[in-house]
Amino acid sequence: MSTLEIKDLHVSIETDQGKKEILKGVSLTIKTGEIHAIMGPNGSGKSTLASTIAGHPRYTVDSGSITLDGEDVLEMSVDERARAGLFLAMQYPVEVPGVTMTNFLRTAKTALDGEAPKLRTWTKDVKEAMSQLRIDADFAQRNVNEGFSGGEKKRVEILQLELFKPKFAIMDETDSGLDVDALKVVSEGHNRVHAAGEMGTLLITHYTRILRYIKPDFVHVFVDGTIAEEGGPELADRLEEEGYDRYLVPAKA
Ligand code: ADP
Ligand code: MG
Ligand code: MG
Repeated sequence: MSTLEIKDLHVSIETDQGKKEILKGVSLTIKTGEIHAIMGPNGSGKSTLASTIAGHPRYTVDSGSITLDGEDVLEMSVDERARAGLFLAMQYPVEVPGVTMTNFLRTAKTALDGEAPKLRTWTKDVKEAMSQLRIDADFAQRNVNEGFSGGEKKRVEILQLELFKPKFAIMDETDSGLDVDALKVVSEGHNRVHAAGEMGTLLITHYTRILRYIKPDFVHVFVDGTIAEEGGPELADRLEEEGYDRYLVPAKA
């Protein structure tokens, strides 16, 4: 079992107006096998948390820590974080011109494991995972994300989960832009990987819709850069009914 531990994390960015603190003391512990949902209004810092875990250079950690089984994640390069088992499904996945999906996946897998996967089983694994996610077979020869629809990009993210088997998957707004059918396919894909019991999920979402398909064990409500409330799945049900109004400070008169 692995543990991803975030302790009293303070994160800021440089803006034209100077330094802006975005995360104001976030603490969160996720173990493999667990699904944690982070919910909250727009602008509350959810994506900042995801990007900070992934090592995006834009974000400065002012204090606090992120550790993976006691190892200092903040000291790791982006590549080292991936090799340590952290996977960030991008909110806006990038295009990689001139690199086919099949080459990209194999190259990434080789980098992650430190050795090339055995070609026979690899080809079979890729085919199987693609068919389960209802990704067209000719996809393998297309360039990474070039001309992919929103739904196709999300499926490819889950394809990576299935093939790379990370310890922790951070999914930021995976549900945005998906129709119900695509949402089901993507959620089922996540749940297949989750069922193996060796992955923890940090599921970041503004809307409760995806939580009908991916059932969180814990729900954390993010407001203004901190966790305002925590609970079990019932908290997501309440948010579905009530929205985030109760957390928002009324405008001062
Ligand atoms: P969420 O994902 O919850 O919607 P974000 O983490 O994207 O929230 O943003 C939190 C706050 O930080 C917002 O006020 C946003 O405007 C600001 N912010 C985040 N990233 C940047 C950035 N790269 N440049 C300027 N402001 C940013
Ligand atoms: Mg959990
Ligand atoms: Mg966001």
